[in-house]
Amino acid sequence: MGLSFTVLGSGSSGNATLVSDGETHILVDVGLSGRETARRLRQLGMEPGHVSAIVISHEHGDHCRGVGPFAKNLEIPVFMTEEAFDGSGLKLEERRLRRIRPGEGFDIGGICITGFSVPHDASNPLGFVLEKDGVRIVIALDLGFLSNLVLERLRGADGIVIESNHDERMLKVGPYPWALKQRVMSRRGHLSNDSVAHYLTNDFDGRAAVVVLAHLSKQNNLPELALLSAQRALEERPGLRARHTRLEVAHQDKIGPTFRY
Ligand SMILES: [Zn+2]
Ligand SMILES: [Zn+2]
Repeated sequence: MGLSFTVLGSGSSGNATLVSDGETHILVDVGLSGRETARRLRQLGMEPGHVSAIVISHEHGDHCRGVGPFAKNLEIPVFMTEEAFDGSGLKLEERRLRRIRPGEGFDIGGICITGFSVPHDASNPLGFVLEKDGVRIVIALDLGFLSNLVLERLRGADGIVIESNHDERMLKVGPYPWALKQRVMSRRGHLSNDSVAHYLTNDFDGRAAVVVLAHLSKQNNLPELALLSAQRALEERPGLRARHTRLEVAHQDKIGPTFRY
């Protein structure tokens, strides 16, 4: 069976994505509560104990807060950078922790995973490429800008989950304190709708069958705005329209569709 991916939930309060080939099931981030992660997996017809591995992007709570409760009593290995683990405060048995490094691929049940560095105010934070049989899924959440390295990793992707965190105007006039606004907008903060639009118009190679806009801010974005901005950006690339790249918005409160390859 080919690869599939499902965003279990995404937003400022918690992120989790399931990547599977039907036998090996990998959770990328467990930022929903342990109970909610288990509930959403069961909604997909999957028992939590069948998860093969957990891969964590960085130590912020919305990416790892559910790891301990979710994996309690389950012998699921957790892959993360040493720095993210140190910063996370997670209590994990040493035998379950797998330390990973950016640029070094590793194999979980035939699915090859490579972390790549992303610019974000966390300890050695990563995005991920997951590959099997020539299918390439790229997950890039929590990044302040699209560095050349990130653009390089996005090339050739068949499925993309990318942050479209905020609408710049909403953020500027919104309720966040100024220091937090600056943090979000900084090059180690979060990607705006405009940044994603710029990517889709100028750098996207048109290969991906689906681009999921994820990690939308509840305060500073609207699903309609993120989608419209991305749609317009794709339309500025008439040559790509024939590919029918599907755009989706990931939600905080519900599971997204499963995309199969
Ligand atoms: Zn973060
Ligand atoms: Zn986050």
